[in-house]
Amino acid sequence: MEMSNVQVKIIGCGDAFGSGGRLNTCFYVNAGPVRFLVDCGATSLPGLKQHGINADDIDAIVISHFHGDHYGGVPFVLLDAAIHSRTKKMQVISPVGGQRRIAALLDLLYPGTEVLEKLDVEFLEYGANEVLNLEGWSLQAFDVLHSERALPHGLRIEVADKVIAYSGDTSWTDALFPLSADADLFICECNFFDLQVKGHLNYLELEKRLPEFSCKRMVLTHFDPQMLDMLDEVHVECLSDGIELFV
Ligand SMILES: [Zn+2]
Repeated sequence: MEMSNVQVKIIGCGDAFGSGGRLNTCFYVNAGPVRFLVDCGATSLPGLKQHGINADDIDAIVISHFHGDHYGGVPFVLLDAAIHSRTKKMQVISPVGGQRRIAALLDLLYPGTEVLEKLDVEFLEYGANEVLNLEGWSLQAFDVLHSERALPHGLRIEVADKVIAYSGDTSWTDALFPLSADADLFICECNFFDLQVKGHLNYLELEKRLPEFSCKRMVLTHFDPQMLDMLDEVHVECLSDGIELFV
């Protein structure tokens, strides 16, 4: 049997509206010495604590785009780390402008607490297509089709000889093919079942393209209420909060 050495814990796989009571997007990737969050939506801190994951268990946070259900939890995670006198470095990896946005959010939400001054936070930015080499893992971002001002990206992550790909939020784009090529796990948004909504995928259009994907395992995320009602008709694995995947 092949050894599974990367754990992906689904802290939240809901949409922006908490449909079905699901938490906002947050995936905890634990590859032994390398542990990070992929997205950190507004509800992430209580979600992490439900699973006993503390700030010290997180070395980095990767943000796919600047929407609150994907990065609104970062100020809370950092505040929590500051309160617990974290001394380890935390990396926050995002599209261009992450440091400015997160500093502004902290100032609005917790004025005067000087969270960033108390922590060792390293802000890193990725650009589309370039590979960002990190400590024991790497990241490649792809431009996807979503609200442009949120700087939307899909992410292709290599860690412990495994590839984990994540669509971020997006309408159909052929970029999903290189993004997820031969990936061990591809987490793909599928916000809707049949509704055509700009900036998101629906299952019926994704289903038509399934034969063209080369990933080894695809799982769907980010469901609206109609999609949640239709899961019996969906022939791709679907995420739910709290589950663990082994890659
Ligand atoms: Zn979004």
